[in-house]
Amino acid sequence: MQKIGLIPLALPFLLAATGAPAAPPSLTEVPAGRAAPESGVAALREAALKDDIAMDIVEGLTTEVGPRPAATAQEAKAREWAVAKLKSLGFSNVHIEPYSMPAWVRGEETASLISPFPQKLAITALGNSGATGKKGLQAEVVYFPTIADLQAVPDGSLKGKIAFVSHAMKPTQDGSSYGEYGTARFAGPGIAARKGAAAIVIKSIGTDHHRVPHTGVTDFPKGVTPIPAAALSVPDAEQLERVFSRGQPVTLSLLLTPRFNGTQQSGNVIAEVPGSDPSAGIIMVTGHLDSWDLGTGAIDDASGVAIITAAAKRVMDAGTPRRTIRVMLAGAEEVGGFGGDAYYEAHKNELHVLTSESDFGADRIWRVDFKFPAEAKPVSDRIAAALAPLGIGAGKQPAGGGADNEKFVKAGIGTIDLQQDGTRYFDLHHTADDTIDKIDPEQLRQNVAAWTTMLTIAANARENLKEK
Ligand code: ZN
Ligand code: ZN
Repeated sequence: MQKIGLIPLALPFLLAATGAPAAPPSLTEVPAGRAAPESGVAALREAALKDDIAMDIVEGLTTEVGPRPAATAQEAKAREWAVAKLKSLGFSNVHIEPYSMPAWVRGEETASLISPFPQKLAITALGNSGATGKKGLQAEVVYFPTIADLQAVPDGSLKGKIAFVSHAMKPTQDGSSYGEYGTARFAGPGIAARKGAAAIVIKSIGTDHHRVPHTGVTDFPKGVTPIPAAALSVPDAEQLERVFSRGQPVTLSLLLTPRFNGTQQSGNVIAEVPGSDPSAGIIMVTGHLDSWDLGTGAIDDASGVAIITAAAKRVMDAGTPRRTIRVMLAGAEEVGGFGGDAYYEAHKNELHVLTSESDFGADRIWRVDFKFPAEAKPVSDRIAAALAPLGIGAGKQPAGGGADNEKFVKAGIGTIDLQQDGTRYFDLHHTADDTIDKIDPEQLRQNVAAWTTMLTIAANARENLKEK
Protein backbone atom coordinates (compact mmCIF):
# COMPACT_ATOMS: atom_id res chain seq x y z
CA MET A 1 0.00 0.00 0.00
CA GLN A 2 1.55 3.26 -1.10
CA LYS A 3 1.79 5.95 1.51
CA ILE A 4 2.50 9.58 0.90
CA GLY A 5 3.59 12.19 3.37
CA LEU A 6 0.97 14.50 4.75
CA ILE A 7 0.97 17.88 3.07
CA PRO A 8 -0.53 20.60 5.25
CA LEU A 9 -3.64 22.13 3.77
CA ALA A 10 -2.15 25.59 4.05
CA LEU A 11 0.42 24.69 1.39
CA PRO A 12 -1.65 23.09 -1.36
CA PHE A 13 -0.59 25.45 -4.13
CA LEU A 14 3.13 24.96 -3.69
CA LEU A 15 3.17 21.50 -5.20
CA ALA A 16 2.18 20.73 -8.75
CA ALA A 17 2.10 17.18 -10.11
CA THR A 18 5.83 17.33 -10.75
CA GLY A 19 6.63 18.69 -7.31
CA ALA A 20 7.81 21.92 -8.96
CA PRO A 21 6.39 25.23 -7.74
CA ALA A 22 3.11 26.00 -9.47
CA ALA A 23 1.70 29.33 -10.50
CA PRO A 24 -0.70 30.78 -7.94
CA PRO A 25 -4.30 29.79 -8.64
CA SER A 26 -6.52 32.00 -10.71
CA LEU A 27 -9.26 33.43 -8.55
CA THR A 28 -11.49 34.03 -11.55
CA GLU A 29 -14.76 32.14 -11.26
CA VAL A 30 -16.17 30.48 -14.36
CA PRO A 31 -19.25 32.55 -15.19
CA ALA A 32 -22.53 30.76 -14.50
CA GLY A 33 -24.45 29.56 -17.51
CA ARG A 34 -21.37 29.04 -19.68
CA ALA A 35 -19.99 25.63 -20.53
CA ALA A 36 -17.13 24.75 -18.22
CA PRO A 37 -14.21 23.38 -20.18
CA GLU A 38 -11.60 21.43 -18.29
CA SER A 39 -9.42 24.53 -18.47
CA GLY A 40 -11.64 26.07 -15.80
CA VAL A 41 -10.79 23.30 -13.38
CA ALA A 42 -8.18 25.20 -11.36
CA ALA A 43 -10.58 28.05 -10.65
CA LEU A 44 -13.35 25.62 -9.69
CA ARG A 45 -10.98 23.72 -7.41
CA GLU A 46 -9.83 26.85 -5.61
CA ALA A 47 -13.38 28.18 -5.25
CA ALA A 48 -14.46 24.83 -3.77
CA LEU A 49 -11.85 25.23 -1.02
CA LYS A 50 -14.22 27.91 0.33
CA ASP A 51 -17.29 25.67 0.02
CA ASP A 52 -20.12 26.09 2.52
CA ILE A 53 -22.68 23.90 0.72
CA ALA A 54 -21.40 20.61 2.13
CA MET A 55 -21.40 21.74 5.77
CA ASP A 56 -24.88 23.18 5.29
CA ILE A 57 -26.08 19.75 4.09
CA VAL A 58 -24.45 17.88 6.98
CA GLU A 59 -25.87 20.41 9.44
CA GLY A 60 -29.38 20.23 7.99
CA LEU A 61 -29.56 16.45 7.69
CA THR A 62 -28.10 15.71 11.13
CA THR A 63 -30.14 18.43 12.87
CA GLU A 64 -33.52 18.30 11.12
CA VAL A 65 -33.62 14.52 10.70
CA GLY A 66 -30.94 13.15 13.05
CA PRO A 67 -30.42 9.36 13.18
CA ARG A 68 -31.64 7.55 10.04
CA PRO A 69 -31.78 3.77 10.53
CA ALA A 70 -32.61 1.78 7.41
CA ALA A 71 -36.28 1.04 6.64
CA THR A 72 -37.59 3.25 9.47
CA ALA A 73 -39.74 6.39 9.53
CA GLN A 74 -36.56 8.37 10.22
CA GLU A 75 -34.98 7.14 7.01
CA ALA A 76 -38.17 8.06 5.11
CA LYS A 77 -37.90 11.55 6.61
CA ALA A 78 -34.31 11.74 5.37
CA ARG A 79 -35.50 10.95 1.83
CA GLU A 80 -38.08 13.75 1.99
CA TRP A 81 -35.46 16.10 3.39
CA ALA A 82 -33.00 15.20 0.62
CA VAL A 83 -35.60 15.66 -2.14
CA ALA A 84 -36.42 19.15 -0.88
CA LYS A 85 -32.73 20.05 -0.53
CA LEU A 86 -31.73 18.75 -3.97
CA LYS A 87 -34.64 20.59 -5.61
CA SER A 88 -33.73 23.81 -3.81
CA LEU A 89 -30.14 23.45 -5.05
CA GLY A 90 -31.43 23.29 -8.64
CA PHE A 91 -30.87 19.63 -9.55
CA SER A 92 -33.01 17.97 -12.24
CA ASN A 93 -35.05 14.74 -12.15
CA VAL A 94 -35.11 14.68 -8.34
CA HIS A 95 -37.09 11.68 -7.16
CA ILE A 96 -37.30 8.72 -4.77
CA GLU A 97 -36.92 5.11 -5.95
CA PRO A 98 -38.49 2.92 -3.24
CA TYR A 99 -37.87 -0.76 -2.49
CA SER A 100 -38.84 -3.08 0.38
CA MET A 101 -36.60 -4.86 2.86
CA PRO A 102 -36.62 -6.49 6.30
CA ALA A 103 -36.33 -3.95 9.13
CA TRP A 104 -34.37 -4.56 12.34
CA VAL A 105 -34.93 -2.24 15.30
CA ARG A 106 -32.92 -1.83 18.48
CA GLY A 107 -34.49 -2.53 21.89
CA GLU A 108 -33.15 -2.38 25.42
CA GLU A 109 -29.50 -3.23 25.89
CA THR A 110 -27.65 -3.72 29.16
CA ALA A 111 -24.83 -5.94 30.38
CA SER A 112 -23.46 -6.62 33.86
CA LEU A 113 -20.65 -8.72 35.15
CA ILE A 114 -22.26 -10.97 37.80
CA SER A 115 -19.13 -12.73 39.03
CA PRO A 116 -16.41 -12.56 40.12
CA PHE A 117 -16.51 -8.72 40.31
CA PRO A 118 -20.06 -7.37 39.83
CA GLN A 119 -20.25 -4.20 37.74
CA LYS A 120 -22.06 -2.71 34.74
CA LEU A 121 -20.55 -2.83 31.26
CA ALA A 122 -21.17 -0.51 28.28
CA ILE A 123 -22.68 -2.48 25.42
CA THR A 124 -24.73 -2.11 22.24
CA ALA A 125 -26.47 -4.69 20.06
CA LEU A 126 -25.14 -5.43 16.59
CA GLY A 127 -27.54 -5.03 13.67
CA ASN A 128 -29.47 -8.28 13.03
CA SER A 129 -28.77 -9.46 16.61
CA GLY A 130 -31.22 -11.91 18.15
CA ALA A 131 -32.92 -11.12 21.49
CA THR A 132 -32.39 -12.49 24.99
CA GLY A 133 -36.05 -12.12 25.89
CA LYS A 134 -37.32 -9.60 28.43
CA LYS A 135 -35.82 -11.45 31.39
CA GLY A 136 -32.34 -11.42 29.91
CA LEU A 137 -29.74 -14.13 29.98
CA GLN A 138 -27.16 -15.14 32.58
CA ALA A 139 -24.35 -17.43 31.51
CA GLU A 140 -20.70 -18.31 31.86
CA VAL A 141 -18.40 -16.46 29.47
CA VAL A 142 -15.72 -18.14 27.35
CA TYR A 143 -12.86 -15.86 26.29
CA PHE A 144 -11.38 -15.97 22.78
CA PRO A 145 -8.50 -13.54 22.19
CA THR A 146 -9.12 -13.65 18.42
CA ILE A 147 -11.79 -14.78 15.95
CA ALA A 148 -9.46 -17.62 14.90
CA ASP A 149 -9.57 -18.97 18.47
CA LEU A 150 -13.38 -19.02 18.30
CA GLN A 151 -13.27 -20.73 14.92
CA ALA A 152 -10.98 -23.44 16.29
CA VAL A 153 -13.39 -24.90 18.90
CA PRO A 154 -15.68 -27.80 17.88
CA ASP A 155 -19.28 -27.18 16.79
CA GLY A 156 -21.68 -27.47 19.73
CA SER A 157 -18.93 -26.94 22.32
CA LEU A 158 -20.22 -23.58 23.55
CA LYS A 159 -23.72 -24.79 24.42
CA GLY A 160 -25.41 -22.39 26.85
CA LYS A 161 -22.35 -20.11 27.12
CA ILE A 162 -21.57 -16.56 26.07
CA ALA A 163 -18.62 -16.25 23.71
CA PHE A 164 -16.37 -13.20 24.19
CA VAL A 165 -14.12 -12.33 21.26
CA SER A 166 -11.50 -9.67 21.93
CA HIS A 167 -8.74 -8.23 19.76
CA ALA A 168 -7.14 -4.82 19.28
CA MET A 169 -7.96 -2.97 16.09
CA LYS A 170 -5.17 -0.69 14.93
CA PRO A 171 -5.86 2.61 13.19
CA THR A 172 -4.59 2.85 9.59
CA GLN A 173 -4.69 5.72 7.11
CA ASP A 174 -6.33 3.60 4.44
CA GLY A 175 -8.80 1.83 6.75
CA SER A 176 -7.41 -1.57 5.78
CA SER A 177 -7.57 -2.91 9.33
CA TYR A 178 -11.41 -2.88 9.13
CA GLY A 179 -11.44 -5.96 6.93
CA GLU A 180 -9.12 -7.90 9.24
CA TYR A 181 -10.62 -7.00 12.63
CA GLY A 182 -14.14 -6.46 11.34
CA THR A 183 -14.51 -10.22 10.84
CA ALA A 184 -15.26 -10.55 14.55
CA ARG A 185 -18.38 -8.47 13.92
CA PHE A 186 -19.34 -9.51 10.38
CA ALA A 187 -18.95 -13.26 10.94
CA GLY A 188 -18.26 -13.83 14.68
CA PRO A 189 -21.92 -14.10 15.78
CA GLY A 190 -22.71 -16.62 13.03
CA ILE A 191 -19.68 -18.71 14.00
CA ALA A 192 -20.55 -18.55 17.72
CA ALA A 193 -24.15 -19.61 16.94
CA ARG A 194 -22.87 -22.65 15.04
CA LYS A 195 -20.67 -23.56 18.02
CA GLY A 196 -23.84 -23.59 20.13
CA ALA A 197 -23.26 -20.32 22.03
CA ALA A 198 -26.28 -18.72 23.73
CA ALA A 199 -24.92 -15.25 22.90
CA ILE A 200 -21.76 -13.41 21.85
CA VAL A 201 -20.11 -10.20 22.95
CA ILE A 202 -17.17 -8.75 21.02
CA LYS A 203 -14.73 -5.94 21.65
CA SER A 204 -15.99 -3.01 19.55
CA ILE A 205 -14.54 -2.71 16.07
CA GLY A 206 -13.07 0.65 16.98
CA THR A 207 -9.78 2.42 17.65
CA ASP A 208 -10.83 4.78 20.47
CA HIS A 209 -10.73 4.36 24.23
CA HIS A 210 -14.08 5.87 25.12
CA ARG A 211 -16.89 4.01 26.86
CA VAL A 212 -18.98 4.20 23.70
CA PRO A 213 -19.60 0.85 22.01
CA HIS A 214 -19.57 0.58 18.19
CA THR A 215 -22.55 -1.04 16.52
CA GLY A 216 -22.67 -2.32 12.93
CA VAL A 217 -24.34 -5.08 11.03
CA THR A 218 -23.63 -8.77 11.49
CA ASP A 219 -24.66 -11.55 9.20
CA PHE A 220 -26.04 -14.93 10.25
CA PRO A 221 -25.66 -17.54 7.50
CA LYS A 222 -28.85 -19.08 6.07
CA GLY A 223 -30.22 -21.74 8.40
CA VAL A 224 -28.44 -20.35 11.48
CA THR A 225 -30.83 -18.87 14.08
CA PRO A 226 -29.61 -15.41 15.19
CA ILE A 227 -28.29 -15.31 18.75
CA PRO A 228 -28.01 -12.15 20.88
CA ALA A 229 -24.87 -10.37 19.62
CA ALA A 230 -23.42 -7.18 21.02
CA ALA A 231 -20.28 -5.05 21.16
CA LEU A 232 -18.62 -3.91 24.39
CA SER A 233 -16.86 -0.54 24.32
CA VAL A 234 -13.09 -0.98 23.98
CA PRO A 235 -12.39 -0.04 27.66
CA ASP A 236 -15.11 -2.44 28.83
CA ALA A 237 -13.71 -5.27 26.71
CA GLU A 238 -10.24 -4.58 28.13
CA GLN A 239 -11.78 -4.63 31.61
CA LEU A 240 -13.24 -8.04 30.86
CA GLU A 241 -9.81 -9.24 29.67
CA ARG A 242 -8.33 -8.15 33.02
CA VAL A 243 -11.09 -9.99 34.86
CA PHE A 244 -10.25 -13.15 32.88
CA SER A 245 -6.56 -12.77 33.74
CA ARG A 246 -7.54 -13.51 37.39
CA GLY A 247 -8.30 -17.07 36.33
CA GLN A 248 -11.79 -17.35 37.89
CA PRO A 249 -15.01 -18.35 36.13
CA VAL A 250 -16.76 -15.28 34.68
CA THR A 251 -20.54 -14.87 34.52
CA LEU A 252 -22.33 -12.17 32.56
CA SER A 253 -25.92 -10.96 32.57
CA LEU A 254 -27.14 -9.73 29.22
CA LEU A 255 -30.39 -8.02 28.22
CA LEU A 256 -30.91 -7.38 24.51
CA THR A 257 -34.41 -6.91 23.09
CA PRO A 258 -34.04 -5.93 19.42
CA ARG A 259 -36.60 -7.27 16.97
CA PHE A 260 -37.36 -7.65 13.30
CA ASN A 261 -40.17 -5.33 12.32
CA GLY A 262 -41.33 -7.13 9.19
CA THR A 263 -40.88 -5.85 5.65
CA GLN A 264 -40.70 -2.07 5.40
CA GLN A 265 -40.03 0.51 2.75
CA SER A 266 -36.64 2.04 2.11
CA GLY A 267 -35.48 3.93 -0.96
CA ASN A 268 -32.82 5.79 -2.89
CA VAL A 269 -32.94 9.49 -3.72
CA ILE A 270 -31.81 10.39 -7.24
CA ALA A 271 -30.90 13.79 -8.69
CA GLU A 272 -29.18 14.80 -11.90
CA VAL A 273 -27.03 17.40 -13.56
CA PRO A 274 -28.11 16.72 -17.17
CA GLY A 275 -25.26 16.50 -19.65
CA SER A 276 -25.21 17.86 -23.20
CA ASP A 277 -24.21 14.54 -24.86
CA PRO A 278 -26.35 11.51 -23.94
CA SER A 279 -24.03 9.22 -25.92
CA ALA A 280 -21.16 10.11 -23.54
CA GLY A 281 -22.82 8.20 -20.69
CA ILE A 282 -23.64 8.77 -17.04
CA ILE A 283 -21.33 9.43 -14.13
CA MET A 284 -22.96 8.07 -10.96
CA VAL A 285 -21.74 9.42 -7.62
CA THR A 286 -23.02 8.00 -4.37
CA GLY A 287 -23.09 8.31 -0.61
CA HIS A 288 -25.66 6.83 1.77
CA LEU A 289 -28.58 8.58 3.46
CA ASP A 290 -29.18 5.98 6.16
CA SER A 291 -27.13 5.87 9.35
CA TRP A 292 -26.92 3.92 12.55
CA ASP A 293 -29.25 5.02 15.30
CA LEU A 294 -26.78 5.78 18.10
CA GLY A 295 -25.35 9.07 16.78
CA THR A 296 -26.61 11.37 14.03
CA GLY A 297 -24.55 9.80 11.25
CA ALA A 298 -22.48 12.92 10.57
CA ILE A 299 -19.29 11.22 9.40
CA ASP A 300 -21.19 8.08 8.29
CA ASP A 301 -22.46 9.18 5.93
CA ALA A 302 -24.01 12.67 5.94
CA SER A 303 -20.51 13.78 4.97
CA GLY A 304 -20.42 11.61 1.85
CA VAL A 305 -23.91 12.78 0.87
CA ALA A 306 -22.79 16.38 1.37
CA ILE A 307 -19.45 16.07 -0.44
CA ILE A 308 -20.83 14.53 -3.63
CA THR A 309 -23.87 16.84 -3.67
CA ALA A 310 -21.82 19.99 -3.14
CA ALA A 311 -19.34 18.97 -5.84
CA ALA A 312 -22.08 18.12 -8.36
CA LYS A 313 -23.77 21.46 -7.59
CA ARG A 314 -20.50 23.32 -8.24
CA VAL A 315 -20.00 21.58 -11.59
CA MET A 316 -23.64 22.29 -12.48
CA ASP A 317 -23.29 26.00 -11.67
CA ALA A 318 -20.20 26.24 -13.87
CA GLY A 319 -22.14 25.24 -16.99
CA THR A 320 -23.64 22.20 -18.69
CA PRO A 321 -21.17 19.30 -18.55
CA ARG A 322 -20.81 16.87 -21.46
CA ARG A 323 -21.88 13.86 -19.37
CA THR A 324 -24.84 13.60 -17.04
CA ILE A 325 -23.82 13.50 -13.38
CA ARG A 326 -26.27 11.44 -11.37
CA VAL A 327 -26.28 11.85 -7.59
CA MET A 328 -27.49 8.63 -5.96
CA LEU A 329 -28.18 8.95 -2.24
CA ALA A 330 -28.53 5.33 -1.22
CA GLY A 331 -30.80 3.93 1.45
CA ALA A 332 -30.01 1.02 3.74
CA GLU A 333 -26.25 0.80 3.13
CA GLU A 334 -25.51 0.03 6.77
CA VAL A 335 -27.52 -3.17 6.92
CA GLY A 336 -26.33 -4.76 3.71
CA GLY A 337 -26.24 -2.38 0.76
CA PHE A 338 -29.92 -2.77 -0.16
CA GLY A 339 -30.04 0.66 -1.83
CA GLY A 340 -26.96 0.09 -3.97
CA ASP A 341 -28.30 -3.28 -5.07
CA ALA A 342 -31.75 -1.83 -5.90
CA TYR A 343 -30.15 0.97 -7.93
CA TYR A 344 -28.01 -1.51 -9.86
CA GLU A 345 -30.98 -3.71 -10.73
CA ALA A 346 -33.06 -0.72 -11.87
CA HIS A 347 -30.34 1.06 -13.87
CA LYS A 348 -27.73 -1.49 -14.94
CA ASN A 349 -28.81 -1.26 -18.60
CA GLU A 350 -28.20 2.48 -18.79
CA LEU A 351 -24.85 3.66 -20.10
CA HIS A 352 -22.82 4.23 -16.94
CA VAL A 353 -19.21 5.15 -17.69
CA LEU A 354 -17.97 6.01 -14.21
CA THR A 355 -19.11 5.50 -10.61
CA SER A 356 -17.55 6.86 -7.43
CA GLU A 357 -18.52 6.62 -3.77
CA SER A 358 -17.84 8.78 -0.70
CA ASP A 359 -18.32 6.81 2.53
CA PHE A 360 -15.29 7.16 4.76
CA GLY A 361 -15.95 10.25 6.85
CA ALA A 362 -14.98 13.86 6.31
CA ASP A 363 -11.22 13.90 6.74
CA ARG A 364 -8.95 14.98 3.89
CA ILE A 365 -8.41 13.00 0.71
CA TRP A 366 -4.80 11.86 0.45
CA ARG A 367 -4.77 9.44 -2.48
CA VAL A 368 -6.68 8.80 -5.70
CA ASP A 369 -7.08 5.35 -7.26
CA PHE A 370 -8.46 4.65 -10.74
CA LYS A 371 -9.93 1.72 -12.58
CA PHE A 372 -10.34 2.95 -16.16
CA PRO A 373 -9.95 1.41 -19.62
CA ALA A 374 -6.55 2.00 -21.21
CA GLU A 375 -7.94 4.58 -23.65
CA ALA A 376 -9.06 6.75 -20.71
CA LYS A 377 -5.54 6.88 -19.23
CA PRO A 378 -5.08 10.52 -20.33
CA VAL A 379 -8.20 11.40 -18.30
CA SER A 380 -6.91 9.76 -15.13
CA ASP A 381 -3.54 11.47 -15.70
CA ARG A 382 -5.22 14.87 -15.95
CA ILE A 383 -7.34 14.20 -12.85
CA ALA A 384 -4.27 13.12 -10.86
CA ALA A 385 -2.35 16.21 -11.96
CA ALA A 386 -5.26 18.51 -11.04
CA LEU A 387 -5.61 16.86 -7.61
CA ALA A 388 -1.92 17.19 -6.75
CA PRO A 389 -2.21 20.83 -5.59
CA LEU A 390 -4.65 19.56 -2.92
CA GLY A 391 -1.93 17.29 -1.52
CA ILE A 392 -3.41 14.18 -3.14
CA GLY A 393 -1.10 11.52 -4.56
CA ALA A 394 -1.96 8.93 -7.21
CA GLY A 395 -2.17 5.34 -5.96
CA LYS A 396 -0.73 2.40 -7.84
CA GLN A 397 -3.55 -0.03 -7.07
CA PRO A 398 -6.85 -0.17 -8.98
CA ALA A 399 -9.90 1.52 -7.45
CA GLY A 400 -12.27 -0.92 -5.76
CA GLY A 401 -15.37 1.18 -5.15
CA GLY A 402 -17.63 0.74 -2.11
CA ALA A 403 -20.82 -0.98 -1.02
CA ASP A 404 -23.12 1.19 -3.15
CA ASN A 405 -21.24 0.95 -6.46
CA GLU A 406 -19.48 -2.41 -6.13
CA LYS A 407 -21.75 -4.14 -8.65
CA PHE A 408 -20.81 -1.57 -11.30
CA VAL A 409 -17.15 -2.06 -10.43
CA LYS A 410 -17.55 -5.82 -10.83
CA ALA A 411 -19.34 -5.24 -14.16
CA GLY A 412 -16.24 -3.42 -15.41
CA ILE A 413 -17.54 0.18 -15.23
CA GLY A 414 -14.85 2.80 -14.58
CA THR A 415 -14.29 3.73 -10.94
CA ILE A 416 -12.42 6.41 -9.06
CA ASP A 417 -11.73 6.16 -5.33
CA LEU A 418 -10.90 9.48 -3.68
CA GLN A 419 -9.33 7.95 -0.58
CA GLN A 420 -9.97 9.80 2.66
CA ASP A 421 -7.64 9.72 5.62
CA GLY A 422 -9.08 7.04 7.90
CA THR A 423 -6.67 7.44 10.81
CA ARG A 424 -9.41 8.62 13.22
CA TYR A 425 -12.46 7.29 11.38
CA PHE A 426 -12.79 4.19 13.56
CA ASP A 427 -12.64 6.26 16.75
CA LEU A 428 -16.17 7.41 15.91
CA HIS A 429 -17.57 4.89 13.42
CA HIS A 430 -21.06 3.59 14.33
CA THR A 431 -21.02 5.15 17.81
CA ALA A 432 -23.11 7.69 19.69
CA ASP A 433 -20.14 10.03 19.12
CA ASP A 434 -20.74 10.26 15.36
CA THR A 435 -21.97 13.86 15.49
CA ILE A 436 -21.29 17.01 13.47
CA ASP A 437 -18.84 18.54 15.96
CA LYS A 438 -16.29 15.87 14.92
CA ILE A 439 -16.11 17.28 11.38
CA ASP A 440 -13.22 19.61 10.53
CA PRO A 441 -14.74 22.17 8.09
CA GLU A 442 -11.41 22.71 6.30
CA GLN A 443 -10.94 19.01 5.61
CA LEU A 444 -14.56 18.73 4.46
CA ARG A 445 -13.87 21.59 1.99
CA GLN A 446 -10.76 19.81 0.70
CA ASN A 447 -13.01 16.84 -0.08
CA VAL A 448 -15.43 19.05 -2.00
CA ALA A 449 -12.52 20.59 -3.93
CA ALA A 450 -11.18 17.16 -4.87
CA TRP A 451 -14.59 15.88 -5.97
CA THR A 452 -15.31 19.09 -7.92
CA THR A 453 -11.96 18.70 -9.69
CA MET A 454 -12.51 15.03 -10.50
CA LEU A 455 -16.09 15.57 -11.71
CA THR A 456 -15.23 18.62 -13.83
CA ILE A 457 -12.60 16.68 -15.74
CA ALA A 458 -14.45 13.36 -15.97
CA ALA A 459 -17.77 14.93 -16.97
CA ASN A 460 -16.20 17.08 -19.70
CA ALA A 461 -13.48 14.77 -21.05
CA ARG A 462 -13.61 14.14 -24.81
CA GLU A 463 -12.16 10.65 -24.43
CA ASN A 464 -14.27 7.52 -24.00
CA LEU A 465 -14.46 6.45 -20.36
CA LYS A 466 -15.80 3.02 -21.25
CA GLU A 467 -14.33 0.36 -23.49
CA LYS A 468 -16.21 0.02 -26.78
ZN1 ZN B 1 -21.08 4.29 5.58
ZN1 ZN C 1 -21.34 2.63 8.41
